[in-house]
Amino acid sequence: TRKYLVGGNWKCNGSLASVKQLCSALNAGDKLDDAKVEVVCAPPAPYVLYARNLLRPDFMLALQNCWVGGCGAYTGEVAADMVADCLAPTPWVILGHSERRHLPELRESDETVAKKTKYAVEKGLQVILCIGELLEEREANRTQEVNERQLEAVRAVLSPDAWDRIVIAYEPVWAIGTGKVATPEQAQETHAAVRQWLIAKVGRQTADNMRILYGGSVKGSNAAELACKPDVDGFLVGGASLKGDEFLQIIAACQ
Ligand code: 13P
Repeated sequence: TRKYLVGGNWKCNGSLASVKQLCSALNAGDKLDDAKVEVVCAPPAPYVLYARNLLRPDFMLALQNCWVGGCGAYTGEVAADMVADCLAPTPWVILGHSERRHLPELRESDETVAKKTKYAVEKGLQVILCIGELLEEREANRTQEVNERQLEAVRAVLSPDAWDRIVIAYEPVWAIGTGKVATPEQAQETHAAVRQWLIAKVGRQTADNMRILYGGSVKGSNAAELACKPDVDGFLVGGASLKGDEFLQIIAACQ
């Protein structure tokens, strides 16, 4: 009964010309079966309103990050209030992406991600909350511990009824941009464990309704075998979301 969600994280890529081209390619795709799938694209901030004007209305838009709080003297930041304003009626934001958690220039802590999540939800945004382990953590059998630590920081600050505005994206860091996709069994096992945590800590009904996306080297050619796993509720796609045909193929695998 959970609707698939397919997110396209364009990361720090593009130009006016390439955004226009990508929007045209996506607009040429078949109508979505909106009983089955939702789609959200996350361009770099300077292009988001341009994309909103060009992109088919059944594709929603997201920012890739926002500030921990409201407007003010925070040079270079984007407040969730602005995301709500620009992307109404369906404002989305990606928070806690592993690149923001781990790039040495950024190093966002679990607590910062949690603070951002709480504020964004309060402003009416839907949040794609990214979690996931590093290669050395998987090799040390610490995947679930890391996921739970990242989730617990959010649980500590978020009101229980706010979780219905959250989508989890499980993105093992070793699978991001490496071409090394998690096997459908690895994804299912981890997603099921995340859902068990949600059942225990947030409540069964909310947990059953929450979507858990997989991200990390998703392609047109591997999406279908992942999508058929019971706890894989869609994808957060990086590289392949910059190619119109391939992103449409991934969406088609979810309907
Ligand atoms: P790739 O699909 O390029 O591996 O990136 C995944 C990702 O980080 C999406 O947020």
